[in-house]
Amino acid sequence: MNKLLIFDLDDTIFETKSIKKESVKPIFDQLEPLLINKFGTALTAQIIPELWKYPFDFVAEKYKFDKHQNTEFARFINEHEYKLNIRTFDDFSVVENLKQEKILVTTGFSKLQHAKIHYLGIKQKFSEVYIDNILSSERVFKKGIFQSILLERKIEPQLVYIIGDNPNSELKAGFELGLHTVQVAKFGQEKSDYANYCISNFNELIPILK
Ligand SMILES: [Mg+2]
Repeated sequence: MNKLLIFDLDDTIFETKSIKKESVKPIFDQLEPLLINKFGTALTAQIIPELWKYPFDFVAEKYKFDKHQNTEFARFINEHEYKLNIRTFDDFSVVENLKQEKILVTTGFSKLQHAKIHYLGIKQKFSEVYIDNILSSERVFKKGIFQSILLERKIEPQLVYIIGDNPNSELKAGFELGLHTVQVAKFGQEKSDYANYCISNFNELIPILK
């Protein structure tokens, strides 16, 4: 049977930090007064940079954002008109040329993740795209998405490769499900215990998939 490749998006296919601050600044400008209201100026000044750096759900959990802050932030994200000047990592052409079926599974806010995919121009490279929506009340996380893909296709776990950068997200989920896990360490990250393989360039995928 054919192998199935499941890719992460952020910091796997493109560098998340390459999104210019000004293209999402209005969202933070709207959020700031809400945070000041709850946390005060000093703590808000600490929280905002963390929101730039870490996934929203991580920061929201750390500071115990309430439902109002979460839903308002989601609303700002979903109402913003994105114009992103972003491009894939240079070696993404290697991925494009792989003959195996490719699926994209990405965590975040739906509209923003779709905007990234649109501006990267990569949608047609994947047979399916799944968004693990951070604030969805029915969130099954990446692990649940992987399980439903396996079930739907009745594919053997040893034919599935999870390819991504995050040890605590797709790599852990894939590892726990008995799938092959390939860590993409574009920035010299240390190999995770959840990773069967660790690569810094997509060319290294070719022998792994042999
Ligand atoms: Mg990632």
